[in-house]
Amino acid sequence: MKENEKVRCLIIGSGPAGYTAAIYASRANLGCVLYEGLQPGGQLTTTTEVENFPGYPQGTTGPVLMDDLRQQAARFGADLRPGIATAADLSAAPYRITIDGTKTLEADTLIIATGATANYLGLPDEQAYAGMGVSACATCDGFFYRKKTVAVVGGGDTACEEALYLSSLAAKVYLIVRKDYLRASHVMQQRVLRTPNIEVLFEHQVKGLYGDGGVEGARLLRRQGQPDQEDVSIAIDGFFLAIGHTPNSTLFRPWLDTNEAGYILTLPGSPCTRLPGVFAAGDVADPHYRQAITAAASGCMAAIEAERYLSGQQTAPQG
Ligand code: NDP
Repeated sequence: MKENEKVRCLIIGSGPAGYTAAIYASRANLGCVLYEGLQPGGQLTTTTEVENFPGYPQGTTGPVLMDDLRQQAARFGADLRPGIATAADLSAAPYRITIDGTKTLEADTLIIATGATANYLGLPDEQAYAGMGVSACATCDGFFYRKKTVAVVGGGDTACEEALYLSSLAAKVYLIVRKDYLRASHVMQQRVLRTPNIEVLFEHQVKGLYGDGGVEGARLLRRQGQPDQEDVSIAIDGFFLAIGHTPNSTLFRPWLDTNEAGYILTLPGSPCTRLPGVFAAGDVADPHYRQAITAAASGCMAAIEAERYLSGQQTAPQG
């Protein structure tokens, strides 16, 4: 590939948003190039069952869904490449994106579909035990904890999903929730609460981990700041984080509007950013829904807007 390659439509990211944008952009002959990033297929490659993506009446798995989307994009000629965007210059069109710190592409239109990354609590022990019992992906690492005891931190749908997945492998799963209720959807809450080998520890905060050469337990604080505050210790072999995500927007923040959490702001109901020809799709711009289907839909919208922009017919107003 040449240095400073020029492309009409550059897509960064390979989750449902990126691949769907690639399907639409390649069918529209935009000569689209997509860089797949750190985790080809995105967050769904670390998910098990996907029951709510339309078109799969019996459900499917995250990896199968992403492979299907990838193949569909490839079928229409999308140029799908390994590589990570390491720098961006959106000061003027064509927009310049550097890949792997080596080559720079000039793009007439840019679709940012870089998704979001799992959050950690920020405890030094998470680093100390990285790869030795600490994980942010139950489906990646759950296998290692068959018939063992694990803990999942978080009270949202992800935490419930991870706890349920682990409950089928591990002997016992603690779900550590900082509030006195689960934030997850009702159906997920019910599944967790009905699973005999999941114990929910409401109003517990994690203070640290312990173990010699690997995680052997967690130190918790129950009802922090209350008169009956209490230190609690649980023996565990694995510690899983499921406390939300941070949008992967750092490279683009100097040029685009973001909210306080870093989610890229687009015009309401559209993938259009404040820059003409630059669009944001999927979780990087969505703090609210964060579903595969909504990501895919916004990828479709971004590709349609890119096509309109390139043909000089963009209909959505620019900020
Ligand atoms: P959420 O933001 O919904 O939940 C994060 C959870 O982590 C909350 O319970 C939060 O606690 C807790 N948390 C955050 N920071 C800390 C901390 N420092 N210490 C302890 N606990 C912490 O994230 P999810 O990843 O669960 O879900 C994101 C979105 O994706 C949601 O809209 C969800 O519905 C959706 N989703 C849907 C699925 C499905 O439909 N199958 C599967 C997975 C996700 P608190 O409540 O106290 O703020």
